[in-house]
Amino acid sequence: MAPSPPLVAPTDGPIHRRLFRRLSSFPLLPRTNSASRFLADAAAAAAAGKSSRPVELLRRRVRIRHNISSPLGAVLLLPVMLVVLVLQFLHWHSGGSVMGSLLLSSSAHLPPIRSLNETIDAPFSTGCMVPDTSKPRANAVLVILARNKELSGVLDSMNSIERHFNRWFHYPYLFLNDGDFNSTFRATVLNHTQSKVEFGTISKELWEFPAWSDPAEVAEGIALQGDAAIMYGGMESYHHMCRFYSGQFYKHPLLAKYDWYWRVEPDVKYFCDITYDPFVYMQEQGKVYGFTILIKELVETVPNLFRYASGFRRSHNIASKGMWEVFLQKDEKKREEPPAPPPTPPAAEGEQTAEGASIEPPAPPVEDFKFPEPKDIDPEAMNGEKYNLCHFWSNFEIARLDFFRSRQYEEFFQFLDRSGGFWNERWGDAPVHSLAAGIFLSPSQVHYFRDIGYRHTTIQHCPGNAPRKQLPRTPYVRDPRNKKDLEEDRYWDSWDVERENGVGCRCKCDTDIIDVEGKEGSCLPSWVDAVGGWTSP
Ligand code: GDP
Ligand code: MN
Repeated sequence: MAPSPPLVAPTDGPIHRRLFRRLSSFPLLPRTNSASRFLADAAAAAAAGKSSRPVELLRRRVRIRHNISSPLGAVLLLPVMLVVLVLQFLHWHSGGSVMGSLLLSSSAHLPPIRSLNETIDAPFSTGCMVPDTSKPRANAVLVILARNKELSGVLDSMNSIERHFNRWFHYPYLFLNDGDFNSTFRATVLNHTQSKVEFGTISKELWEFPAWSDPAEVAEGIALQGDAAIMYGGMESYHHMCRFYSGQFYKHPLLAKYDWYWRVEPDVKYFCDITYDPFVYMQEQGKVYGFTILIKELVETVPNLFRYASGFRRSHNIASKGMWEVFLQKDEKKREEPPAPPPTPPAAEGEQTAEGASIEPPAPPVEDFKFPEPKDIDPEAMNGEKYNLCHFWSNFEIARLDFFRSRQYEEFFQFLDRSGGFWNERWGDAPVHSLAAGIFLSPSQVHYFRDIGYRHTTIQHCPGNAPRKQLPRTPYVRDPRNKKDLEEDRYWDSWDVERENGVGCRCKCDTDIIDVEGKEGSCLPSWVDAVGGWTSP
């Protein structure tokens, strides 16, 4: 029996040889199609075992018309260049929005950002504006607490805030330090902004623990937290810093002349352009406190803080204006039950009833408040309410100083201070400011800067770019002779694709970590509940 023909061609030689052999066996294309002919020639040459280096191939001339010829490289490059030029032209003339839209359709798999009810609080800007620098500025300052050794992180933060905001608005800076800023720190900082800069030393009175505190108790409290490996718990300076930001910074003489502040820390990064004046918008819209990230605190740093805040609220008979609930743990059991028609809710002690009658709170427990033994208590429980550990991440903060300077806030701080929690525990200024906002403010007085893209350490918020609301960007190069400056500006000259429900302006976010909004355990839903809920799934 004759052997059946092989199903697969014999494998003599490498695959490209076989391919070229195949090609060379095709009839040559008509001579008018020079490029095709050239490829066929190349295939034939390769099949004949001649090597054709790519450069030589590209140099070879092909005939375009009977009397016109050109190198193959140029013929191939021309259409590519044309496409690039057209896209660049569209990009310039649309401020990136056409590019963005083109890319948007190609990235349709990105889930849209969830939209939230904006009747109580809405972004001040959706997308970009042309910065209006003709209006008067607010009486505001950028505050940076730092040490000399943090100079490089300070410069990174300054460069970022100058590039994305202060190049238009030129707000002054105030640097604060419990020590002295050295001449290098001062000179370098001055070299990084055109704005007015002041340097302030913090007095011992504002920085250190109160005169009445017992040094032995302080030392022991802090040492115990060090032993328990509580984050920063064993570091006395960190306790001072938290206490300073909780109840002292606004008493610094160099802040006295200002109404507003924006807190900036070393090593923070802004991702989007802020093309409006947030102070002015806050002022116009009756806002008191602004945040961009709301996350959970480490429970071991604040075991008893909520007891005191809650005790203060009840003892002062302060009814919630809708912010307190942002910081309460939801009752899991209640959520699982099918919704029943709500009976008239019993008012919590010290709160106003629906009719406006006030229930007498128990006598203020200030003097009786001793730290209970942790084993005897559920440390977060208070009057049936539990702290959900949420707090505005205060390394970014824009707020009215008179909120902190008010008699009520001062009383609140003094009440907390007397408890010893700033040294026996490691209360951060973030949960302290947040619970104060919970006690004194209404949701309409708080602003979520959802449009401000921001990163510190490993947490970031990145608003998507608002579709069709991007505008062309003017370059920002501090020193045109500096290659690094030019490169950096080139980096910011393109931005992320637009995203449905995005509110950002020219944001270009880091991609190594995800937005805190979408993270497990994010506290944003708590805020969203207070302002009317999500409006998209
Ligand atoms: P983290 O962000 O919670 O890790 O804390 P940081 O170490 O960034 O401190 C928060 C802010 O306080 C930053 O602006 C620091 O520069 C500043 N800071 C912290 N400790 C001290 C201190 O002992 N002296 C001074 N002058 N600033 C401090
Ligand atoms: Mn920090």
